[in-house]
Amino acid sequence: MILPKSNQFTLEQLNEVTTIVKEFGCTIQPIIGAMRTIYAIVGDERDELMINRLEGLTYVDRIDRIQSQFKLMDKRSDLSTHRIKIGGVVLGEDLFIIAGQCTIDPKNPQLFIETAHAVKEAGAHSLRGGVWKPRTNPYSFQGDNKSLDILMEAARQTGLPADAEVMDETQLELALSAGVHMLQIGARNALNYSLLRAIGKAVAKKDTVVLLKRSIHMGPISEFISAAEYIAAFGNPNVILCPRGTTPTLDGYRNHPDESITPLLKEKTWAPVVVDPSHSVGKAVYVPACALAAVAYGADGLCIESHISPSLGIGDDPKQALTPKVLGDTILQAKALWKLLHPSRKA
Ligand code: PEP
Ligand code: MN
Repeated sequence: MILPKSNQFTLEQLNEVTTIVKEFGCTIQPIIGAMRTIYAIVGDERDELMINRLEGLTYVDRIDRIQSQFKLMDKRSDLSTHRIKIGGVVLGEDLFIIAGQCTIDPKNPQLFIETAHAVKEAGAHSLRGGVWKPRTNPYSFQGDNKSLDILMEAARQTGLPADAEVMDETQLELALSAGVHMLQIGARNALNYSLLRAIGKAVAKKDTVVLLKRSIHMGPISEFISAAEYIAAFGNPNVILCPRGTTPTLDGYRNHPDESITPLLKEKTWAPVVVDPSHSVGKAVYVPACALAAVAYGADGLCIESHISPSLGIGDDPKQALTPKVLGDTILQAKALWKLLHPSRKA
């Protein structure tokens, strides 16, 4: 829908607009109002170049898109009945819990194995473990290929599907060939379109699940859903959206907790939302409340960092990881709240 700056286009302006949309297979239908005429674009109006050219006209006020930019992830798309199943849970039917360490310490494999058993005991359905880490400081521990074996061994022992972040195509290949079931795209890479495309291609037609974090730099909700669309476009719609806090920060919290965007996402997309309260607030003591808030806002699941002995951890674990006891209590409370809020669902 084109809104002119004046009450209506001149004949010359209408001709120019009509010529542009015609190039993209569309026509213009004026809708004459008492005060102002607006112009409907009839046809597939999703071509970015067409919109950019129309927006570039000095006499155009703005373009309101009627059609969704998301062919696959839109709530009204044919995929809207698609359900993602992982770790024995159908997302949306039961509260889905991912838990485990921020970072696997390759020098201390036993700690991760113990964490894995403990988070399973606490109620986790999927095991997270950072193999390669996106560290702000180049001198901080960057991860180690050896940790991939530790992650897979823990997954084998517990029977939990493994979740690891990949930051480039080499890691992607290593993770997939090791059997990582859930690929995490981190907050720093959620806008890396080359990587999103590579992951989309690599998981096409597989049952791999992609946990897409919300970028620290993402603005409108549509940017988040578009990133998910990149992956689905290659043939794997198993994309979970993961708000994890964004900028600007609040004094005291690591990021600005953004679990409150969950209902907004759910208005636009069918994709499940799994909130990461750990990175949102960045301190173990604040994590349980943020986890419960996420459930209250309608999240389908939680991704929580937990460590058998946080003070022995590396990466974020000493400050952010919940002990298995606190994790277990948080999961129990979150599940109770979930049941209260969604009495007709399965759990
Ligand atoms: C993580 O999950 O440990 C992590 C680095 O997350 P994010 O990309 O959200 O910062
Ligand atoms: Mn972390």
